[in-house]
Amino acid sequence: MTGPRTAFRPRPSLALAADGTPWQQLAACRSISPTTMFPSNERDGRAVAAAKAFCAVCPVRDRCLAAALAEEDGHNRDRRSGIRGGLTSTERVRLAAAQRRATRQRSDGREPAPCGTAAAYERHIRNGEPVDDACRTARAAQRQANRKRSKAAAA
Ligand code: SF4
Ligand SMILES: [Zn+2]
Repeated sequence: MTGPRTAFRPRPSLALAADGTPWQQLAACRSISPTTMFPSNERDGRAVAAAKAFCAVCPVRDRCLAAALAEEDGHNRDRRSGIRGGLTSTERVRLAAAQRRATRQRSDGREPAPCGTAAAYERHIRNGEPVDDACRTARAAQRQANRKRSKAAAA
């Protein structure tokens, strides 16, 4: 495992290096300045939004996030930086904690709701996790069903 100093930084030189990690070559941020993805202040909403705009259209977002979480595992919060996989370092800390909780629940025999359910959608939102299509669809279906029920009750 590598520390933040040697971790993947989605800047052109590294993204295009022949290092055997082809997903990096597909990074939406590969040709932009590293300062965009690593703003000096992650409380600067405009800077964060500018970085997240690249992640929002990035075809390798899931893999980038997985790589960031793996690299940062076991590191202190203050050694994480940058927007990676669509999340700020603070959001990644929260997500990593949520994943650890889910792992504990599983080992206790309590399965977290699987993706593709409204409960999983709520969990994603609660934990600041990216929301997948299956969960978004399940949530929309639940809302529609609730509306129908309300209408029927009011009739
Ligand atoms: S998800 Fe964001 S940080 Fe990761 S490679 Fe894509 S644009 Fe870059
Ligand atoms: Zn999900």
